Amino acid sequence: MIDSRRRRLMQALGAGTAGVLFAPGLLAATPLPRNVLEKPTFECDPFTLGVASGEPAADGFVIWTRLAPQPLEQGGGMTMRPMPVKWEIAQDDAFRRIVRSGTTLAHPELAHSVHVEVEDLAPGRPYWYRFIVGDATSPTGRSATLPAADARVDRVRFAVAGCQHYEEGHYTAWRRIAEEPLDFVFHYGDYIYEGPDNGPGERRMNGRPFTPLRRHVGGEIYSLDDYRRRHALYRSDRDLQAAHAAAPWFVSFDDHEIDNNWAGEIDQDGTPRELFLLRRAVGMQAFYEHMPLRRASLPVNGRMRMHRRAAWGDLLQTHFLDTRQYRSDQANGDRDALQDEVVRAPERSMLGQEQEQWLYDGLRPDQRRWHVIAQQVGLANLAMQPRGPGSEVTYSMDQWSGYLANRRRLLGHIEQAGMTNVVTVSGDAHRHFASDLLPDEGAPRVISTEFLATSITSGSDGTGEEDDFNRTTRSLNPHLKAMTDKRGYVLCDVNRDVWYGELKVLDRVMVPDEPVKLHARFAVERGRPGLQQA
Ligand code: FE
Ligand code: CA
Repeated sequence: MIDSRRRRLMQALGAGTAGVLFAPGLLAATPLPRNVLEKPTFECDPFTLGVASGEPAADGFVIWTRLAPQPLEQGGGMTMRPMPVKWEIAQDDAFRRIVRSGTTLAHPELAHSVHVEVEDLAPGRPYWYRFIVGDATSPTGRSATLPAADARVDRVRFAVAGCQHYEEGHYTAWRRIAEEPLDFVFHYGDYIYEGPDNGPGERRMNGRPFTPLRRHVGGEIYSLDDYRRRHALYRSDRDLQAAHAAAPWFVSFDDHEIDNNWAGEIDQDGTPRELFLLRRAVGMQAFYEHMPLRRASLPVNGRMRMHRRAAWGDLLQTHFLDTRQYRSDQANGDRDALQDEVVRAPERSMLGQEQEQWLYDGLRPDQRRWHVIAQQVGLANLAMQPRGPGSEVTYSMDQWSGYLANRRRLLGHIEQAGMTNVVTVSGDAHRHFASDLLPDEGAPRVISTEFLATSITSGSDGTGEEDDFNRTTRSLNPHLKAMTDKRGYVLCDVNRDVWYGELKVLDRVMVPDEPVKLHARFAVERGRPGLQQA
């Protein structure tokens, strides 16, 4: 039997008399839970974590929020019952022309996050969105649909950013990204860092004493509640919230969303595989809960699908990769090393067989002017001499330089497909690196171009270009055209014939509100891979 209040609620939710709720944003068409809290009330603002949108398509996008009146408390300070949340999509930021609206449920199983997959919108235009729960209204976010698949598109602008260690600086770079006119943001990963609060004392950074700007809460994170609290801590930052509210994002995780330098089913500490998988599963769940992701990325049995594509009309085809979940363990115990037979072994993989084939199936000459491979770690194969000039040359085992056969297959595929319009973007190195991508052996042909974006905060103020590592790395790698150890992001400004990559930097992140500066600007001509000064 359905009592009348319950019937009214179900009608408000768009439910039929059978008690089945059909609305975008639910995990499926599900019966209305018996424990639903019809009229939630809040003593303080439940929208402390802001709003976000992502995964744009030509007819819609995902809008996200998480109800958390006390974000660092157990359960976010929420009543542990599912509750209805209203959402609205408008053509203007004052919500005079609301074009879609509905009600979804925030479930305690997902930390009261909501992910609404909005549909039936017009292509290629901006929209504004907000949520309402009880008598609270969320901040307003701005999103946009993709142009129609066959539309002619003349320009796309997007930011590449990630590595935002909370303790190591202000998120001013996110504020500057929010101020850019952008079509989308690609977050390459290290959205959170899993390490403990190390206490109030000094530590060392870049060879100098360092006192954290702000601190993690608690020890290293293992449980689902730990990961949720860490995400909530990071997400409480207003500059980060501003960037989420300004444009749709495509997010990916790298290592620190789970554990430093994890690889597939293996962590860095030698933990038994089946135990690490438990940790990986809760890290993935918390990541899903806090990101504007589609239902297709909901973790199932400890796995989540993150490789996907989106296209801006006939201008740009994106390929977002997952270089963590399917990779082989790092060679040489993950210490920087020579590129020996293990590093070159063809069976060691960065992408896993299924994803690698999926990438090549979509990475083919077509009507699109450009293709971008957006992923997590450097492709540039950078030789390093950590002990200075004349010492042994080594390579990172965590980047593509540690998965040389897979790197060779990827560049070989691009070359054999005759594609001279592929650009790659990545991060992880906590420095800007702009590189021509060459084969690791044989004739030095430029096959593609990489913009590796520096960190938002990780590494704190940084050393700029004035350190030994910069000098030796530049001299060892002529295909590396720019590098600097400063915080910031990469801005890609893409037109039909030229791809401009701008390396943006902030002088300091230990003081608030720094201006953004242009460190270097490069052009890549369509049909002619490689960096040119611009
Ligand atoms: Fe990082
Ligand atoms: Ca990383």
